[in-house]
Amino acid sequence: MTRALLLDRDGTLIVDVGYPRDPAQVEPLPGAIDALRALQSRFALVIVSNQSGLARGLISAAEAAAVHARVVERFGQAGVTFAGAYYCPHAPDAGCRCRKPAPGLLLDAARDLGLDLAASTMLGDKPSDLAAGRAAGCRTLAFGPATGAPHHCPDWPAVTAALRATE
Ligand SMILES: [Mg+2]
Ligand SMILES: [Zn+2]
Repeated sequence: MTRALLLDRDGTLIVDVGYPRDPAQVEPLPGAIDALRALQSRFALVIVSNQSGLARGLISAAEAAAVHARVVERFGQAGVTFAGAYYCPHAPDAGCRCRKPAPGLLLDAARDLGLDLAASTMLGDKPSDLAAGRAAGCRTLAFGPATGAPHHCPDWPAVTAALRATE
């Protein structure tokens, strides 16, 4: 069983531009690459992202797939390898099992990758990320400007420190 760092994408790994449709919009957040390059020896890195722009008709399936692939490629070029990269394409009112705060993406990753969710951490910038993590039985870390979260990391160095503290 592998422990994972489950990662929200927009606003956590990359700049959140709102329904990104062009791979050229993919811009890693400051410190993310350096932190993950060090953390990947201790955690399987897995992206779990809501992409409702698809269901909203704002982006096509091909655009969503291209942007997601670019995220993996961009980090990969910098030496960061993701064990998995998942996204939910559904609308908020679709009642699917995978849109965060539902835990479906995390459960799929656990099934596919043999993750120990109880030993894993979900990191994200929205309450729905943390709720999905809790629903999957993970620890949670709030990233960036999220308010009211018990474990709040304002930036990537703080994420590294918080994960070290949970050893
Ligand atoms: Mg986000
Ligand atoms: Zn879904």
